[in-house]
Amino acid sequence: MKYLPNPKLKGSGIVDCIPQKGKCLLAKNYDCGIDCYFIHGWYDPTYSPIIPPKKIAEGKIVRFNSGHDSNLEKRLVLETAKNFDDFFFNTSLPRFDFPGPVVFTCNSKETNKNAIVLSNVSKNLMFVRFRVNSWNLDLAENVIKNYERKNVPVVLTFMRYYSKKRIPKEFRKDYKLKKSIIHNYLMIKKQKREEIVAFFKEKYNNIFQCGSYESSFCKDCGNCKEFYFTTKSLLSLTLNKPMREPQSSQP
Ligand code: SF4
Repeated sequence: MKYLPNPKLKGSGIVDCIPQKGKCLLAKNYDCGIDCYFIHGWYDPTYSPIIPPKKIAEGKIVRFNSGHDSNLEKRLVLETAKNFDDFFFNTSLPRFDFPGPVVFTCNSKETNKNAIVLSNVSKNLMFVRFRVNSWNLDLAENVIKNYERKNVPVVLTFMRYYSKKRIPKEFRKDYKLKKSIIHNYLMIKKQKREEIVAFFKEKYNNIFQCGSYESSFCKDCGNCKEFYFTTKSLLSLTLNKPMREPQSSQP
């Protein structure tokens, strides 16, 4: 099957890989399934798996399972990773026994109510991703505060919405229709976004944003690439050598 490149990653030095077939099973019960850029955006889950040919992946970092979860059909994921030199794994499930760096999204299930704060942090954790909007800021701060103590960077992903029904009435004023990558979404307004980022940066050291108001393209951000190489250099990575599994707890 022809490789379908993710337009978000164009020119970034990162390519996507989704070895599983079909829609992510978490999409049924997790909030992330409703807002998923992959499912609603460019990627048709029937058009899968998405595995970059070696020629395309050469010299690039292979990102596993944005739009799916690396802890699902894990054996397949790990087997596929063996074909590449540089790779990292995305997951929303707190299991870190991967032979490479991991990005952990801590509030995929109940974006506004609960997040997972790991009590022990695995060495291969690249960063924690928090899905932020203008009405889950208390939860955001709780998460940031907890990970700050553990010296773990938190990357804020500002949520975009397909339907205004997903935004509580009193917060709809914070959002406007704007193009991101290839589609129009309800996105947080510039001033509101900057206020939120400034508030957290003022109080905490390890806060980053996924992209910016101006651009959602990874080539304009570079966080994943930078954290990947930092984590990789901190690890003496050995393929197939499982990492220690942390325990998880709710904040
Ligand atoms: S943090 Fe930056 S590089 Fe990583 S996915 Fe978001 S925009 Fe792309």
